[in-house]
Amino acid sequence: MRAFKETQYGFILYNEAMEANKKYEGLGAFEISFEMQKLAEKNKKDNIFLNAGRGNPNWINTKARLAFNRLVEFGIKDSRRTINETDMAGYTQLKGIAQRFSAFLEPEENATDHFLDEALTYIKQDLSLHADDVVKELIDGALGNNYPVPNRVLKNTEFILKRYLENTLYNGSDIPHNTQLFPTEGGTAAIVYIFNSLKRNHLINPGDKIAINTPIFTPYLQIPNLSEFDLVEVLLDSDEQNKWEISLEQIKKLEDPDIKAFFIVNPSNPGSKAFNSEALAAIQDAVSKNPDLIIITDDVYGTFVKGFQTVYSLVPKNTILVYSFSKLYGATGWRLGVIAMQKNNIFDELIARLPEPERTELDNRYALVTNIPNRLPFIERIVADSRSVGLYHTSGLSTPQQIMEVLFALTHLIYQDKEDPYFTACEQLIDRRYDDLHKALRIENDDSPENAKYYTMINILSLAEQRYGKGFRDYLETNFVHNDFLLKLAERNGVVLMDGVGFGAKEGELRVSEANLPTEDYYLIGKQILELLKEYYQDYKK
Ligand SMILES: *Cc1c(COP(=O)(O)O)cnc(C)c1O
Repeated sequence: MRAFKETQYGFILYNEAMEANKKYEGLGAFEISFEMQKLAEKNKKDNIFLNAGRGNPNWINTKARLAFNRLVEFGIKDSRRTINETDMAGYTQLKGIAQRFSAFLEPEENATDHFLDEALTYIKQDLSLHADDVVKELIDGALGNNYPVPNRVLKNTEFILKRYLENTLYNGSDIPHNTQLFPTEGGTAAIVYIFNSLKRNHLINPGDKIAINTPIFTPYLQIPNLSEFDLVEVLLDSDEQNKWEISLEQIKKLEDPDIKAFFIVNPSNPGSKAFNSEALAAIQDAVSKNPDLIIITDDVYGTFVKGFQTVYSLVPKNTILVYSFSKLYGATGWRLGVIAMQKNNIFDELIARLPEPERTELDNRYALVTNIPNRLPFIERIVADSRSVGLYHTSGLSTPQQIMEVLFALTHLIYQDKEDPYFTACEQLIDRRYDDLHKALRIENDDSPENAKYYTMINILSLAEQRYGKGFRDYLETNFVHNDFLLKLAERNGVVLMDGVGFGAKEGELRVSEANLPTEDYYLIGKQILELLKEYYQDYKK
């Protein structure tokens, strides 16, 4: 049985428990999780309420945030040089601004200024950028005193963010020089903008076959099925048996030229595994056989895997990369994402090859933006479409957001080849939670280097079999649906997990997020799961 069905709301979980409990009908995975939170908060055992359902991290990066404040403080001071009337100040001036900023900083006195001082040195010495130019961009950007100009991305911002992506996601691969960026309101906006422009430009059309590596972050399952897209999915499954790794057999499906696009979350969510080198090689191979394949890779969790290599770095011409600062830096509220793609890419080529009537239609559409619309690159079309074309000239991510991205990036870049202590701290935190959960559940760790460990998938049925035997597993499988367990866990024990089915996983698979609970609670969650399982077992023995 396909365990989810499509409704006007997108996918919903669909099983007898849902039938019995009409209240949950029509709700998506995230809404159901919300309903369960309410149950869990007033749980019968009066346990503390443990919500391990969400992926929002419970840590933040402090350095970049404090640095942002310093940029604003200096910016105000510098702006008063031109106008200084009560609460009104003027504009910053380019000439000598780096020098004035350096003089403002007290690197000996405080750690934030020390970081900004190091960042300035890095910008001048290692990136060979013009110091006044960069400082003015950072300061004006933080102050937000001008529209984003250029609208797609600020100049030095693009340069620095490219370095960051190269440093964290390309694994030494040497392709970044042709990369162009479009910072967006989180990975969320990046995804929406890309899908819309692909559709607008006839690069994906109703009825096209789209491959997806499942289980996957729910929007990717929902978007292809929205009526305005009407796409046919080809699922490239990974599962528990495979330790959530995609098989090479599955990747072979991509060689079929009928498959127009491949949407990837890598490392995956909920599986949390990055493609290994064999899988990456197989993708490269498939692209050589299906050279028009469009690839969108969402690498939001890439920075949680040491030596991570993005698909973008291997098949750059075919691929659009999406990255977000949300998870690593605990910055979901800032909405900081970025789209990256090559200057020479198949998207522009595919547009040039469209039939005449479609090209004419597109030329008319983008004539508002440029007088040579047929040469407008796809990435600029994404920028234009993000503001319904008409408002192209005031498009672009807000400048304070762009500067916040730069500051997060710089906290990492200044370490160059050395270890970034913030990365290490994140890794250790997640590792500890992952270990505790596995210890409590008495299941084996997956310590392979590809495991981001941001999420863990727990299969309740396997766990039942492991602890109480096959008979009990069969009993659970035939008498209960997985949501029964999930609901009871919330209602009685106060623990909220997320159902994997909404992500396209099998029944019985639950997602625990290692991101958003106090570290000491992970052992407890494991215990609560086993305790509830024991209760089911006692019923079974009766
Ligand atoms: C959290 C998440 C996002 C959303 O990122 P935002 O930058 O917060 O919008 C995108 N993709 C995946 C796979 C995620 O898990």
